[in-house]
Amino acid sequence: MIPQTLQVSQLASWQDELNNLIRSPEELFDLLQLPQDGLEQARLACKDFPLRVPRPYASRIQPGNLQDPLLQQVLPLGAELQAAPGYSHDPLEEADSNPVAGLIHKYKSRVLLITSPSCAIHCRYCFRRHFPYDENKPGRSQWQQALDYIAADNAINEVIYSGGDPLSSNDKQLAWLTQQIAAIPHIKRLRIHTRLPIMIPQRITADCLRWLSETRLQTIMVLHINHAQEIDDDVRGALAKLQQHGVTLLNQAVLLKGINDELSTQVALSESLFASGVLPYYLHLLDKVEGAAHFDIRRDQALKLHKAMQAQLPGFLVPKLVQEVAGAPSKVMVEAGG
Ligand SMILES: *Cc1c(COP(=O)(O)O)cnc(C)c1O
Ligand code: SF4
Repeated sequence: MIPQTLQVSQLASWQDELNNLIRSPEELFDLLQLPQDGLEQARLACKDFPLRVPRPYASRIQPGNLQDPLLQQVLPLGAELQAAPGYSHDPLEEADSNPVAGLIHKYKSRVLLITSPSCAIHCRYCFRRHFPYDENKPGRSQWQQALDYIAADNAINEVIYSGGDPLSSNDKQLAWLTQQIAAIPHIKRLRIHTRLPIMIPQRITADCLRWLSETRLQTIMVLHINHAQEIDDDVRGALAKLQQHGVTLLNQAVLLKGINDELSTQVALSESLFASGVLPYYLHLLDKVEGAAHFDIRRDQALKLHKAMQAQLPGFLVPKLVQEVAGAPSKVMVEAGG
């Protein structure tokens, strides 16, 4: 038997994990025993959008398997460098909805704050891969402009922390910002769009749980999990703590060719999410960003898959199939004939 004291988790701190990401294609290829003939392409693709893989996430990848659904989300490929018709740098035209630094206001009742420009992981299909983050990095003094904007618009009742990944900011900053937002009477809800509890589960610290549970705002966390294999025991532990602290847990996934476009994969994802206390919220069609065309699924195939999911799962485990349409007042449901 292992003595009790040795069973205490030996996980590194989340800050250490963030400082120790896998950033070189050489290391990724060595660590995961990948065939060396892909290395040159990977190096080239990284010039445009650098490699970033957190080690806890890498530990869930099966070494030597190029088809691993977690690996495919992070492995830079030569295909990213091929131009594809209809794919652009700013597919969502967010530059038009950026009234003050760090704030995106596209939908009437909610605003999105770019709370931190950086992510722990670089997902190769990311629609923000070309976003001008350097121009959207407000410090405390500049946040005042965003707070004034929110305070001046009574139609806004929900603030969303987004990014990048908002949880790459520290808890002191997030606690401060949350206090400022809670002081605006017409705001009811705080929503956090994050992948960090999946990438580095130790991000859910006691300090983090404190500011989340002490605010008067209702708190919602929208996670981003594309495949059941992303959820291990450490992730389940982090999600359980969030739930115990009153955070409503939802998930959004992106429909990705070769990664989660099979019916059995989607059913397993919904089941694993619910077993961890998370409800599926959105399943997104890929945004047409340059460099990601090789992940795209045809719309009719997506619809067929979604219909098959409805036949296998209870309604509350079927995410809404949506896409972003520039200029639309909300996410747009993908429907037959549309
Ligand atoms: C997706 C998104 C939201 C949130 O939309 P919901 O449908 O409420 O989840 C808010 N603002 C922006 C800019 C978005 O892209
Ligand atoms: S975590 Fe989200 S914002 Fe960051 S790279 Fe991945 S998809 Fe993009």
